Amino acid sequence: MLDVLRRIVQEVGGARNLTHALTVIVRRVKQAMNADVSSVYLTDFKQQQYVLMANQGLNPGSVGKVRLGLAEGLVGMVGMREEPINIDNATESPNYRYFPETGEEQYPAFLGVPIVHNRKVLGVLVVQRRDSIRFTGDEEAFLITVAAQLAGAIAHAEASGGIEGLQGDHEIRSLLVQGLPGAPGVALGTAVVVYPAADLEAVPDRKADDVALEEQVFADAINAVRADVTILQERISEVLLPEDRALFDAYQLMLASDSLVNSTVERIRNGQWASAALRDTIIEHALVFEDMEDPYLRERGEDVRDLGRRILMHMQRGARGRFKYPADTILVGDAISASALAEVPPECLKGVVSTKGSTTSHVAILSHALGIPAVMGSADLPVNYLDGKSVIVDGYRGRIFVSPDAAVTKEYERLAQAEEELSAELATLRDLSATTTDGVSVPLYVNTGLLSDITSAQNSGAEGIGLYRTEFPFMVRQRFPSEDEQRQVYQSVLKAVAPKPVTIRTLDIGGDKALPYFPIKEENPFLGWRGMRVTLDHPEIFLVQMRAMLRANAGVNNMSILFPMVTNVAEVDEAIRLVRRAHHELLDTESGITMPRIGAMIEVPSAVYQAGALAQRVDFISVGTNDLTQYLLAVDRNNSRVAGLYDSLHPAVLRALSEIVDQAHQYGKPVGVCGEMAGDPLAALILVGIGVDNLSMNAASLPRVKSVIRAFSAGHARELVENALDMENPGMVRRLVMDALNHKNLGNLVHA
Ligand code: PEP
Ligand code: MG
Repeated sequence: MLDVLRRIVQEVGGARNLTHALTVIVRRVKQAMNADVSSVYLTDFKQQQYVLMANQGLNPGSVGKVRLGLAEGLVGMVGMREEPINIDNATESPNYRYFPETGEEQYPAFLGVPIVHNRKVLGVLVVQRRDSIRFTGDEEAFLITVAAQLAGAIAHAEASGGIEGLQGDHEIRSLLVQGLPGAPGVALGTAVVVYPAADLEAVPDRKADDVALEEQVFADAINAVRADVTILQERISEVLLPEDRALFDAYQLMLASDSLVNSTVERIRNGQWASAALRDTIIEHALVFEDMEDPYLRERGEDVRDLGRRILMHMQRGARGRFKYPADTILVGDAISASALAEVPPECLKGVVSTKGSTTSHVAILSHALGIPAVMGSADLPVNYLDGKSVIVDGYRGRIFVSPDAAVTKEYERLAQAEEELSAELATLRDLSATTTDGVSVPLYVNTGLLSDITSAQNSGAEGIGLYRTEFPFMVRQRFPSEDEQRQVYQSVLKAVAPKPVTIRTLDIGGDKALPYFPIKEENPFLGWRGMRVTLDHPEIFLVQMRAMLRANAGVNNMSILFPMVTNVAEVDEAIRLVRRAHHELLDTESGITMPRIGAMIEVPSAVYQAGALAQRVDFISVGTNDLTQYLLAVDRNNSRVAGLYDSLHPAVLRALSEIVDQAHQYGKPVGVCGEMAGDPLAALILVGIGVDNLSMNAASLPRVKSVIRAFSAGHARELVENALDMENPGMVRRLVMDALNHKNLGNLVHA
């Protein structure tokens, strides 16, 4: 059974067309369970019906024709109850429905299990038998497992246009996909799909602009791979047995075969670019093998795919240089790296859509910092078919519209216009201070990690930089930056912002922030080697960074140092000791070196309860609510499946913040918040009420937050907090503050 399951998972993953995948599944299930009939019904949400989508054992003509209401028949009952029905007298059941077009005989044994994704019934998987013997508990468990595997694949195909999309029709009519808000703003543009290299499945559809050129690209790649294989063949012939060597002969034959070459060329002539034409040809060939019963021949499917990847790799080598980003690029991908983002000329990048991650993922934070709307975690987006399509990104509501109709486009053009007007209006606040109506001033700083971002930070009217993430200068290199390289980067930031203050954070890698040249492979990276844990284990890296920072600050004197991911007091003692050591050493050789202010981040629950002990050791506390929320609520900040549970307005998070402020203030130390929460005008009001002393956020959010702070008294904010702390869930807190904002006609600051 486990073997069958593995094969099913592999085949479902490999099939490009869901109809094909369903056909394979019903065939395998029928065999494995010794059933007489096996069928998949899928929910047609528009018609509110189940449709028979694949079947083995009934009249093949009934596929796509048999339809029943959502409450009809045993299938309907399985769906309504959202649980399996396993009976041996189906034909006597009052719910039994007979469809003459199926050529159905009497099948008393019936086992149906619902196919459920995200609490939604997407269909029903059914097996039937002629004997009136109930399916066993093991068989039931097997079918439940298959249905659970199937659910994800169906949900994905559903997104490409409901039941019609399931037929393998790639033409996407207008489509709305719900994701998560990544970075605020709305953008209209053209999708450019970014995809991992040498991954056939990930190649997007794209129109061939120049058919002759695409044919040439393909022909060159074939020749290059032939040459590669010949070299491999020669190198390996002495160590391999003849039958293994035959694999390479087979590769050469395939590379020369009409079926591979001609079908790809034909696809190119029909308008596909070379990579997607190759993708379809290779998958078609691989599936022929993978459908075979003989395990040896089945394995050959993988050889075909391997060959395809080799050809693709050659084609991609030349492709990068040739690609021209449209002027209204919306970058779309399963996971978009910082470097993919950086590759787009800044004037062309209008929006970002990532099927993975959530608001506090680093791609979202980066987009936010660049002022580019982003939607994250749109898992159901049919990425491969989007390249070149017109797309609307709604970063407020976390929505993506593909090929939107005229009415939607018009509405969003209006919204984008309103946005611009609001920004212009808020720009008038630039030189005013963020002071409440009762005179409490809450300095607003910006977060950044990019040099190019400093100007927008300056223009936003910020009082300095509250969080400079040093990961970015580390990420964009091929090795750790040298002391001097680092000094230069930090110094440009300090000088550009002086005399205003800048808080530079020490390297915070691990978790979801990887350096290409320093991979950390862990089962559970957010609970693993990250932040201070890494740098304290590598004093040579930490000391270089400290020296670079202290030297950068010489003569400018506006720098504070911040330690991330502190989980215990000893880490802070150790880190301060290292800063002192670097300071002491530099005093001998350099002039103008001073000891900077030092701060500790509170990002984990243990630090919340030791905030007092930490505050005694440092000059200030900065709360990283992105991590604090994930650790307090046990919700991965990048996992879109649980993103609905991630909410910094959770009363538990508010209580933790309040605890931190109380403890730090006892020792006279200021508390700032530098997580995304600080840039949400609604949450910022709560933070002021809690008594947070300053806020650091993306430049784009600053005017809205300032506008809210200037409209309320600190007393009113405190009252809201008193109520909020007693509430039971984040929704209630949000409504409470939203009402207060609406009361002052400031609701428009929260939504576009
Ligand atoms: C945070 O965790 O809130 C924070 C500011 O740090 P980062 O987002 O870089 O992890
Ligand atoms: Mg953090």
